[in-house]
Amino acid sequence: MVSRVIPVEPFDLVIIGGTGDLARRKILPALYQRFVAGQIGKESQIIGAARSEMETESYRSFAAEAIREFTDTDEVKPRKLAAFLKLVSYVTLDAKGEAGWKTLSGMVQENRIRAFYFSVGPSLFGDLAKRLQKYGMAEDDCRIVVEKPFGRDLATAKELNRILARHFDESQIYRIDHYLGKETVQNLMAVRFGNMLFEPLWNSQYVDHIQITVAESVGVGGRGGYYDRAGAMRDMVQNHLMQLFCLIAMEPPAKFEPDSVRDEKLKVIRALEHVKPENIVRGQYDGDGQNPGYRNEVENRDSTTETFVALKAHISNWRWAGTPFYLRTGKRLRDRASEIAVVFKDAPHSIFDEDAGRHHNILTIRLQPNEGIELGVTIKEPGPGGMRLVDVPLDMSFAEVLGPDEADFPDAYERLIMDVIRGNQTLFMRGDEVEAAWAWTDPIIAEWQAAGTEPEPYDPGGSGPEEALFLMHRDGRRWREIKP
Ligand code: NAD
Repeated sequence: MVSRVIPVEPFDLVIIGGTGDLARRKILPALYQRFVAGQIGKESQIIGAARSEMETESYRSFAAEAIREFTDTDEVKPRKLAAFLKLVSYVTLDAKGEAGWKTLSGMVQENRIRAFYFSVGPSLFGDLAKRLQKYGMAEDDCRIVVEKPFGRDLATAKELNRILARHFDESQIYRIDHYLGKETVQNLMAVRFGNMLFEPLWNSQYVDHIQITVAESVGVGGRGGYYDRAGAMRDMVQNHLMQLFCLIAMEPPAKFEPDSVRDEKLKVIRALEHVKPENIVRGQYDGDGQNPGYRNEVENRDSTTETFVALKAHISNWRWAGTPFYLRTGKRLRDRASEIAVVFKDAPHSIFDEDAGRHHNILTIRLQPNEGIELGVTIKEPGPGGMRLVDVPLDMSFAEVLGPDEADFPDAYERLIMDVIRGNQTLFMRGDEVEAAWAWTDPIIAEWQAAGTEPEPYDPGGSGPEEALFLMHRDGRRWREIKP
């Protein structure tokens, strides 16, 4: 199979916050990779813009260093890098003042695609939107890209939406959730809606439950200041887990088009029941011999911020009535591993002896590492030992089926930035989706605050607090092992 790279039209992309961590680790390397792949042509412009006084030459060195550090070193070829850097320039710009805006407006070209990536904290979004308009850059056809966190509750998210809506139409706003850019997340939609096999079974009649796990092995590290004000519920559940949840639970959209898909996702969030306190576990990691505990990594030594959440959710609609969705995310867990597991019900009647064992099918969608989809099916254990059943995986790992080149798919940021340039919002969150997700999250957080309870401590390197295991055990179910 030959991979098809369809070049995008020439564009101007302004990275506001171009000297920041996100630009360094994700945006610049992603653009470089798409350039090397032949998707970005030589006529495009990438303009870094930030407060620091810097010349274009120094910014190119900054970009080169970022690309060497955060791209697979084998892939950084000096000639390619030099060619890419010719696209890159820099302007010193103050979001809160007038410095640099005139220069920027002179650099951005009319009559071509223009995108402004707000790679800065959300407190600057209003200033940026206002000045883009003031300096004539917020025309109807330009696009803005905004990062998480999109608010810290419903009120702040509404306020951000209101500020952006003053200057931009919803069709111009690209709210990034990089989980949606993952190859497997899109493949999940292909598997669900491109095959006859799964969709008839995709409901409470055949699905026992669904598990979504996003586990990280790292702690908060240098992000303690931000994290302590957010916690796992705001930082992970409200956005990333919720987006995965929507894609797995939504009705088939009429078309694979932005608003068709986003309408269906929104319906899922709106049909979510409130999660009662007994169906939710908060945890906070302790230290061990090598690593400090959470409270020693943040300023507030008595912090009650959660670094782990496990919960059982229900969707009140025809398809899912009675099927629990178990969501779990946490830091300092055994491994970095994210997956969605659709656990089907047992066959209604076993024709085999009891010692043949009872088995059920599990469809696993692995997001990281080793993106891929696996279907566990039950077969007879080979050999002469009578009729014993065994589960074997039908592995749809892309590398095996498609060959290593095809499986070497773009990083989420590469795909999402190209989607911005192509003007395709399917994999971006709409304003009302974000608000609905906060409307579901806010009462849960409010109840925690009112109860004043402490999160359950858990040992690093495991699978979170014991209470999270009980959440499943009491329903006669088990979490899947956290493993890469
Ligand atoms: P950062 O602090 O490393 O960088 C901020 C950038 O904004 C710098 O380039 C700085 O010069 C610029 N800046 C600050 N004030 C400015 C002003 N008044 N005018 C012009 N430029 C100004 O932050 P970051 O980690 O790159 O994050 C940027 C945004 O992306 C934040 O909203 C963050 O929450 C979000 N985000 C970051 C990551 C990540 O991996 N770093 C991941 C997801 C989301």
